[in-house]
Amino acid sequence: MKLPFKLRVILALFQLGRERRQFERNPLYHQQRMWRRFRRNTLAKSPLYGDQRESCIEDFPIQGKLEFTRDFDFINTRGIRFDDAMHVAQEAEDSRDFTPTIDGVTVGLSSGTSGNRGVFLVSEEERAFWVAMVLQRILGFSLKKRKVAFFLRANSKLYTSVQSRLIRFSFFDLLIPVEQHFTELNDLQPDIVVGQPSLLMMLVDAQREGKLRIAPHKVISVAEVLSSEDQKAIKSCFQVSVQQVYQCNEGMFGQTCAHGNFHLNEDGLLIEKDWLDETRFQPIVTDMRRKIQPVVRYKMNDILHATKCDCGSKMIAVSQIEGRTDDVLHFDGGRRIFPDFIRRAVIGSHKDISNYQIIQEDSKTLSLYVDPKSLWDVAAQALTRLFEAQQLLDIEIRRVENKTHIQGTKFRRIHAQRH
Ligand SMILES: [Zn+2]
Repeated sequence: MKLPFKLRVILALFQLGRERRQFERNPLYHQQRMWRRFRRNTLAKSPLYGDQRESCIEDFPIQGKLEFTRDFDFINTRGIRFDDAMHVAQEAEDSRDFTPTIDGVTVGLSSGTSGNRGVFLVSEEERAFWVAMVLQRILGFSLKKRKVAFFLRANSKLYTSVQSRLIRFSFFDLLIPVEQHFTELNDLQPDIVVGQPSLLMMLVDAQREGKLRIAPHKVISVAEVLSSEDQKAIKSCFQVSVQQVYQCNEGMFGQTCAHGNFHLNEDGLLIEKDWLDETRFQPIVTDMRRKIQPVVRYKMNDILHATKCDCGSKMIAVSQIEGRTDDVLHFDGGRRIFPDFIRRAVIGSHKDISNYQIIQEDSKTLSLYVDPKSLWDVAAQALTRLFEAQQLLDIEIRRVENKTHIQGTKFRRIHAQRH
């Protein structure tokens, strides 16, 4: 029997609530039970994982974006071919008709920071879970009617499905220059604004200049790394704290708690940590709630900082997402500098620096963009001091007048180019 979507969401809300309680009571027991269920109900139907006899998660192969896309046809449990899914997704994006489905499964296009794009598949039931997750862990319940302004690269059925009498979603296209949205935003007066930090910062500028006059109760940052300085600027402009969501395509991996840390949703995820140093790790994620396109030991490129949180949750706490492993600058002799050090050096060099970008061109050259431009020398000197302290003595810092950001894509403030 096909359930109405709203009923599915309500059922998902109950299940999510129950699973969270079970996890908090006994994390290991809950995860083992989820894992057994996931293997039996989902992995058994996947050609790639179906005959995996071993029961231990460590026996499964680790996947990156490359392998996940390469093995698409064998991973999904519905026999959907990558080329067909990509074709449907591409056509939908070109026509800006955002309801692409294939055999009743919604197809989404993942927005990578670089070239190779992927597609992802979500069923009606998974969408209901996603919506329930957004309601339960991000928006929170309220009986007051709320309007949400959601900035996206491409709309997807996934997002418009959070539509009800109590929540009204308005979709703003990231590919259109932001100025063209101001009138609509001023008319809408959203209660909640969701977007990537670079977009939120454009709204901050517009609000300060008086072009934008909105008073959201909640600002939610998605997709890019939210630096603490952007967080402060958004907070002081709109007088609300910024909530962060950590997600990848349709997988909701974590969100900030009342204490300001992230918690990874371990009541449905198995998280293995690949340690980079004492506090930093790269997460390897298994999403036990996926049914159509199982995510098993998917290694994220993100650098997470492990921490302890006093809020009471037993789920892994993360103090910040520092950036991507591609953003770590590599120098001769195997030396590396994490993006956080670069960020602190530049921001710490002068209080008026509001925007910057550093791109490593090769092992000896970086380009640096600073706004305001008059502070370029100050920032460059701070970077030189940082490099000297690491015994990196002959690094050239080039001045660039403009930042590199293709509209509609993720903005990367610190970026190491690989050749
Ligand atoms: Zn917490």
